Amino acid sequence: MNNLKRCAIHTITTKAWDLPTACAKYAEAGVPALGVWRQWLEGRPLAESRKLLDDHGLTAVSLVRGGFFTSPSAEKRQAAIDENRRCLDEAAAIGAGQVVLVCGADPAVPLPEARKHITEGIASLIPHAAGAGVKLAIEPLHPMYADCRSAVNTIGQSTDIIDEVGAEWVGIAVDAYHVWWDPNLEREIKRAGQRICGFHVCDWLTPTTDFLNDRGLMGEGCIDLPGLRRMVEGTGFDGPIEVEIFSDRLWKQDPDQYLGDIIAAYLKHV
Ligand code: ZN
Repeated sequence: MNNLKRCAIHTITTKAWDLPTACAKYAEAGVPALGVWRQWLEGRPLAESRKLLDDHGLTAVSLVRGGFFTSPSAEKRQAAIDENRRCLDEAAAIGAGQVVLVCGADPAVPLPEARKHITEGIASLIPHAAGAGVKLAIEPLHPMYADCRSAVNTIGQSTDIIDEVGAEWVGIAVDAYHVWWDPNLEREIKRAGQRICGFHVCDWLTPTTDFLNDRGLMGEGCIDLPGLRRMVEGTGFDGPIEVEIFSDRLWKQDPDQYLGDIIAAYLKHV
């Protein structure tokens, strides 16, 4: 029987709510953890955000998002690395154990070179990650984003990067939306093993009307979420399961009703 013990919700999922509201609503609903998007930290000191979480008994699982290591400009690549350091510090300040990385891609940079930028960027952040006590979680993105969001598109590629840079401070966030199609999914999840440090859920709709903001609620689409969960847990993963849904359609719903739907869908379909 599923329960909410491992349920976390990304603040962007309930976009209408600011951090204080989201904290109050999640806690009231019995959701013990959340994924914090950086925008939700703006406008108040980090210590205050941390206090909000603590006062509601909530744990920040992840800070979303860092990355964007790829650029034709060396100056911009350096700026991205500096930004990622700030991101790691913010994660540490709110008690989040990982920063989710959208690794980056640029139509002006060939993919093999983009992947080099990404590997170098991650490697250069490891000392800072270790100092902050925060992991860098590579999130492979669906290949439809390989032009401008991420040149890392499979769990296998993520494992290869980690084999190069070391696994102590770098892991993999498995997002169902991005990896469900992979014909090597089962094999690559097994190979990734303990490198997996995050698990994000939503669903894939048919038809998908927008590449970014038309994700489905769990159970609405074609992803075998219980099957994916079994594979991920087969590696020993027993961490939070993070609900991360961008949806123009669902964002229009009454947010209280929507939170109820999210919880029901999590209990039934994950
Ligand atoms: Zn995700």
